Amino acid sequence: MPSEEILLPSRARARERGLVAERRGWLGTTDLLTKEPDREELALAFVVRGLIQTRSFADREEELGTGLVQRLAAAASSVPYRRFQPASWQCVVAILEPSPRVCDACPFKPGQQGCTGCGGTGKIPTGSGNDVTTCRGCTGSGFVKCERCDGDRRIQRVTVRTYEDHVAELEHVFVPLVPPALHDRLSARLLGFDELPTLLAVDLDRPTTVPLGSYRTGNSVSPPRFHGIEAAAPFVEAKATLARLSSNGTLMERAVQAHAVPLLTAWYGQTCVAIASYGESLEAFVAEGED
Ligand SMILES: [Zn+2]
Ligand SMILES: [Zn+2]
Repeated sequence: MPSEEILLPSRARARERGLVAERRGWLGTTDLLTKEPDREELALAFVVRGLIQTRSFADREEELGTGLVQRLAAAASSVPYRRFQPASWQCVVAILEPSPRVCDACPFKPGQQGCTGCGGTGKIPTGSGNDVTTCRGCTGSGFVKCERCDGDRRIQRVTVRTYEDHVAELEHVFVPLVPPALHDRLSARLLGFDELPTLLAVDLDRPTTVPLGSYRTGNSVSPPRFHGIEAAAPFVEAKATLARLSSNGTLMERAVQAHAVPLLTAWYGQTCVAIASYGESLEAFVAEGED
């Protein structure tokens, strides 16, 4: 989209639209937009919202009942996936002992072990006199399924893989260097929009660059730009944050929505005025820096 459509922020344009940037002082209130700043810079703030799903895994050796080994080995062929849902999945990726062994945790009653809830009696004291009630853990039998072999009587040593699906959520406004109070206010304002103008939407993976003349310098393209404005530090920071959130295992899926908001920062001593462009309108913010 042509950048001409976006109203670029300047103090003159802000004044034309009736904006003021007031600083209260000993001598009354000053509209800083009418004053020449010490320095000013046209930059971009990036409003980035994203969901990033990654998958990591960890392996451990375990002895499991043969039935469970079969089920978990079958599960390895198609590990499920739920879009943008954190989840945990287990499967068997290696059978370390091809021939199952007899479970040594259930020698008396194969596949079963004494119930720990009632100590194998099947009864539990109610607490009044000598009254007893049937143990719910074993429904009165005194035995429960052997934990070690899962009731299968035979076990195998296997490698169990646990997949973890992580979902990271990002909602952040990356801004040029401004006082923290101004960052807070800009963030609240920009994240407060139900929808930022589509005119400001950008694909962070596709900034524009322009050839810079000589092929021999090695530095043959300009720094990345959006809406004709150099992307600079906030862009680098946004990209690094997305990369960090995508590195927690294998990247499975990523949905990122980004808007580049043209932002003029003008400094008057420690006071910073920021004029943001929402495409067709401007808004001015003022904040004091710390020392
Ligand atoms: Zn019991
Ligand atoms: Zn057992």
